[in-house]
Amino acid sequence: MKAFYAQEQKRHDPKAFLSSGAAQPNPERPERVERLLAGAASAGCTIERPRNHGLGPVSAVHTPEYLDFLEHIFDRWQRIDGASAEVIPNIHPIARNGSYPASAVGQAGYHIADTACPISGETWQSALWSAWSAAEAAETVMAGAPAAYALCRPPGHHAFADVAGGFCFINNSAVAAQILRRNAARVAILDVDLHHGNGTQGIFYARPDVLTVSLHADPVRFYPFFWGHADERGEGPGLGYNFNLQLPRKSADAAFLETLEIAFQRIRAFSPDALVVALGLDAFEGDPFGGLSVTTPGFSRIGEAIARLGLPSVIVQEGGYLCDALGDNLTAFLTGFGGKAR
Ligand SMILES: [Zn+2]
Repeated sequence: MKAFYAQEQKRHDPKAFLSSGAAQPNPERPERVERLLAGAASAGCTIERPRNHGLGPVSAVHTPEYLDFLEHIFDRWQRIDGASAEVIPNIHPIARNGSYPASAVGQAGYHIADTACPISGETWQSALWSAWSAAEAAETVMAGAPAAYALCRPPGHHAFADVAGGFCFINNSAVAAQILRRNAARVAILDVDLHHGNGTQGIFYARPDVLTVSLHADPVRFYPFFWGHADERGEGPGLGYNFNLQLPRKSADAAFLETLEIAFQRIRAFSPDALVVALGLDAFEGDPFGGLSVTTPGFSRIGEAIARLGLPSVIVQEGGYLCDALGDNLTAFLTGFGGKAR
């Protein structure tokens, strides 16, 4: 299987975020890349650099004002007297029924959901190349490969059309799905990250051509709190095209695989022409977030089960944080999925 990654993706290096009000080291570390590259190589992947895809694939799923914000906010922020080294918002509109702010501080609060997304001078390029890795993987599958892996870092599934959040800036899974739509009438996105893919849900919420299915730790007491519940089913023409499956905290392999079968029923009924797997590895029992208890062999079984859908698949890296088994978990998933055979 081909894998895609560009070294620019490693430059984004956020320092901190707030967790339950306390400043903590930001877990979305550049070192994640080394573990994931090793994991992909162990699964037999050849790692290639994506081409520059321009803004087209990104602007297909994000608003122009948001992309303009992401590209320029760091420089604007630096002109504020006494501003922090990274862009971190401290005020947010609680609803979108007011005016779009002109100031850098106001726009930061408008476009960034939480403190997990500090923006430095490197962030825009890292996020763009991460999206281009997803774009290249999607084009590879469109050209006939049965599957491709995009080592997307920063991750993407918490990014809405015009909001960053949860370590995510550009929604790489959405970028891949939208590219697949050029050839595929229907595309399904299956999100197996520990956290609900709220940004992906938001981008496709009113659309019947992209089915979004997410399995995740129950958001009743877990990020992203406001989304990921069973009664979020889509809206307008998209009603019935969004499906959320919640797992109790600390659920292990058996419960995860059982719930995955429910997701598959919905995906088969949609009869998609292609699949995007939003692959978070943070459901792992040893992940620092500690939400679920999937094992390393469990990721292999999850990969096997998804491959049995028999769909052309773009596998997009989402979460999964520094722990000894991070690379092994990717190897397990990709090997289970088909690894060397593909
Ligand atoms: Zn996650």
